[in-house]
Amino acid sequence: MAEYYDPEDKEQTENREDDDRYEKVCMMCRRSERKAGKLMKIADRFWVCTDCMQKSMDTFEQNKDAIQAMMRNFPPSMSFDDWADAPQIPKQQRVKKAAPDKAQARKKKESAWKAVPVPHKIKEALDEYVIGQEHAKKVISVAVYNHYKRINDKDDSVEIQKSNVLMIGPTGSGKTYLVQTLARFLDVPLAITDATSLTEAGYIGDDVESVLSKLLAAADNDLERAQQGIVFIDEIDKLAKKKNVNQRDVSGEAVQQGLLKLLEGTEVEVPVGASSKNAMVPLETMDTRNILFIVGGAFPELEQIVLQRLNKKAGIGFNSVLAEEHKDDRNILTKVTSQDLRDFGMIPEFLGRLPIICTLESLNEDMLVRILKEPKNAILRQYEKLLNLDGVQLTFEDEALKIIARQALEIDTGARALRALLEQYMLDIMYEIPKDTNIGEVVITEAYINGTGGPRIIMRS
Ligand code: ADP
Repeated sequence: MAEYYDPEDKEQTENREDDDRYEKVCMMCRRSERKAGKLMKIADRFWVCTDCMQKSMDTFEQNKDAIQAMMRNFPPSMSFDDWADAPQIPKQQRVKKAAPDKAQARKKKESAWKAVPVPHKIKEALDEYVIGQEHAKKVISVAVYNHYKRINDKDDSVEIQKSNVLMIGPTGSGKTYLVQTLARFLDVPLAITDATSLTEAGYIGDDVESVLSKLLAAADNDLERAQQGIVFIDEIDKLAKKKNVNQRDVSGEAVQQGLLKLLEGTEVEVPVGASSKNAMVPLETMDTRNILFIVGGAFPELEQIVLQRLNKKAGIGFNSVLAEEHKDDRNILTKVTSQDLRDFGMIPEFLGRLPIICTLESLNEDMLVRILKEPKNAILRQYEKLLNLDGVQLTFEDEALKIIARQALEIDTGARALRALLEQYMLDIMYEIPKDTNIGEVVITEAYINGTGGPRIIMRS
């Protein structure tokens, strides 16, 4: 029986170590010790809070006669020791214990903030990975800097508004990548979710709180850290109010409504280690005031809306020249206003909680070539390294890269197409080259990419 601790038993030892690091949870109401107050130990690794204990006593008292009658008929064979065999609450569903000392916790928080660099340093770090998108990088760097400055602000006389960000840009232009790079650089937990998986509470799909559960999991169930993390919600444009529908819109407008409170900053009950609330999942209270929300989407028909507005303003005569100019502007989205987004179907309250709007450009041929070559973990560098491990040097002709970029543009999924294309071209090379150890260099030529020739192979001298 698990009542006695056996140091030889690996599982028992691990469980005990978890208990040192993670909060205990009441087996009946699933609240953690920090919420339910001191828990009573009923059996080994089986805890119950005083409320639940009291409730059971009351129930027992109220139904004493029935229970006694039942026990006379069926003498209970279960002892307290058997309770230890009840299913345990896994550590994924338990939050980490807070730092024992408050002062220590505060120090940890402050040092995290002090480590947040100034905007131009943040942008420099982003530059190493994300190509182009200068404006978006600048906007995000300032937003993040202000966000962490606000977290640390002790003076209540002027409250700084939360700087949640709305990112608009075509698919594959680097929205997710930008946020990922940022979170890695700042060393804060990041949760990425898709708005399409969310539904209004009570319907099939994830509740809006599930985005916070993900963040908590990303922070390794450390509540303090999670409460200063970043949540990125992609495909937010799919939440637009649907036009001319009579049914209840449980996955669009209702989700926008549901997100309002989270964006603004509030305390929310969050299921720990699961995506929806149910009786078996422990809940934890999370404060979203210091969580930075970044939402992104491609907003496909938004261009049309902006264009229409600009054209209406341009009218006829001299100004109509302007309208013509806008027609070919690839980055018309940079002129987007809050009203355009409302026309698109986002509700005003939602937009009000996203004070910062930034747009990403659609990638052109030059940018795609640079994405192949320049980022710190560029795809070309990865292939170069792979071949280098075999002692073979890999080079690409500039013209070959341009053709790959042009092909990617045709596929129209932004930079995402590049990897698939390159994989296709490199497969034969990666297969054939190791066959001959005399090969010293491979040059990927324009002809090879065009399918009219092969790569240039140079032997070791
Ligand atoms: P989306 O805008 O749809 O979120 P992603 O950020 O997921 O696009 O981009 C897909 C991939 O394309 C990224 O993982 C990254 O490797 C590459 N990528 C996209 N845009 C850029 C960019 N501006 N600079 C460098 N790489 C990029």
